[in-house]
Amino acid sequence: MNRRRRQLTNALLTAFIGLRVVRGSRALAAGRAPSAPSAPNAPNAPNAPRTLLDVKDPAAKAVSYQEDARKVDPGLYPTYRRGQSCNTCALIEFGTAPLRGCTLFPGKLIVAAGWCSAWQLRGSKS
Ligand code: SF4
Repeated sequence: MNRRRRQLTNALLTAFIGLRVVRGSRALAAGRAPSAPSAPNAPNAPNAPRTLLDVKDPAAKAVSYQEDARKVDPGLYPTYRRGQSCNTCALIEFGTAPLRGCTLFPGKLIVAAGWCSAWQLRGSKS
């Protein structure tokens, strides 16, 4: 039984690898780079390198994202309160790095000292 299972596993692995080789060959023949099985360079792939969010990015502009919370003008953003920053927001990735992920911007890094109008108090239920 174990031998049969091993043969079946080997056959499936061989078929999978063969399929990957054929796909890669076709991509190369078409002048494209072959795609990896998990597409690690896709923007939202778990291992994709993250790039710094540009404040001019439409998604950043939509929430008035700024890289320095100390420069937020309370006159322009009445919801802003002193002490608010990405560092104290519920949506930032845990850690202490100055550049971290935010659930609002998948595949991007934000400045932890920044702020946006979507700021949420950590531990709040809203
Ligand atoms: S949602 Fe929070 S962590 Fe994300 S950019 Fe806005 S303030 Fe920063």
